[in-house]
Amino acid sequence: MSVIIKGARPYGEDAVDLLLTDGTITAIGDRLSSPGADVVDAAGLVALPGLVDLHTHLREPGREDAETVETGSRAAALGGFTAVHAMANTDPVADTAGVVEQVWRLGQEAGLVDVVPVGAVTVGLRGERLAELGAMADSAARVRVFSDDGHCVADPALMRRALEYVKAFDGVVAQHAEEPRLTVGAQMNEGERSARLGLGGWPAAAEEAVIARDVLLAGHVGARLHVCHVSTAGSVEILRWAKGRGVQVTAEVTPHHLLLTDECAETYDPVFKVNPPLRTEADVQALREGLADGTIDAVGTDHAPHAVEDKESEWAAARPGMLGLEQALSVVLETMVAPELLDWRGVADRMSVRPAAIGRLGSHGRPLAVGEPANLLLLDPAHRAAVDPAALASRSRNSPYAGRELPGRVVATFLRGQATVLDGKALK
Ligand SMILES: [Zn+2]
Repeated sequence: MSVIIKGARPYGEDAVDLLLTDGTITAIGDRLSSPGADVVDAAGLVALPGLVDLHTHLREPGREDAETVETGSRAAALGGFTAVHAMANTDPVADTAGVVEQVWRLGQEAGLVDVVPVGAVTVGLRGERLAELGAMADSAARVRVFSDDGHCVADPALMRRALEYVKAFDGVVAQHAEEPRLTVGAQMNEGERSARLGLGGWPAAAEEAVIARDVLLAGHVGARLHVCHVSTAGSVEILRWAKGRGVQVTAEVTPHHLLLTDECAETYDPVFKVNPPLRTEADVQALREGLADGTIDAVGTDHAPHAVEDKESEWAAARPGMLGLEQALSVVLETMVAPELLDWRGVADRMSVRPAAIGRLGSHGRPLAVGEPANLLLLDPAHRAAVDPAALASRSRNSPYAGRELPGRVVATFLRGQATVLDGKALK
């Protein structure tokens, strides 16, 4: 079975046709034809490799009222993703081969993106003893990314052992960097604003101290470390220093930390409550520069759906977290492409190539070239529209972009040559 994409602009360059056959890009050129092929008109659309998310909360098993593997997969496909890493903080926690295989199978059944389970670092995310890392790596889910995300692996000796353990099978520990003894009662970024609003402060040092400790440990052990949702200017400086010394460290930034600041807390609208919190304008600028120069490797959505009762309450009682999959690319267009901090190849690198490499996903993050897997998206960069939370595919509604006009619309997504999204609509 074949698809011909007519007149797409790979990486924003000259318009060409692409022929997808049996899951592979089999030809790129002018006026391609193939008997019986489906034809997709892509005039004016930018073609990019399918996006890869290192940081998605799909909530299944346990909180299917907030999201399921299927609804989250649909949101991902609509956002242009072809692979997402599903975080381990489910109920039960994904800390055994059985649970990661369950999530992996649910992803296969949904069939909209490749759902790649993340394994917990410690049993029950409790930070006391290591989970069955080797069994998860050897399972059908072939786990390579391990994270207690939502919690920090705070014990340095345990973190060191985790790094030593995953090194044996080329895994990576993805750290939620938050020194818990510095964030007791934290509600928002610590500063003049938190004092004035009367909300408990989450100091930048609580993140930076853990990142500094962990890059030293990773360097000492010679293992791979990934830092989740970097949010401060100081963290970018530490990462730059560590990379300069040859430490195998990678990092991600969320779309919301590229766009929004702690000024959002002035509304007391808990949709803006997130962990780590929204920071200052100076932090936002440093994060954009860090992503532009490659100090920060990837955009990770930290898509965190929450049911209404967990989110629509007073600020202090609300759960932290925001939706991210469906608007991630639009936010990157707004914050990185419009100000010319990244070009289209840069977007492909930070949202597909590097996250796929970090997760060791061989068939994602590949170039748009003949012989490569047909995982790609088509984007209308000229489209602008206000975000309507009611129109989202996620089961939850906690989008921080509600009512905000953003550029770009994913028109189509192809997973192994099969359309998962066409005309901006999911096909399953
Ligand atoms: Zn986290």
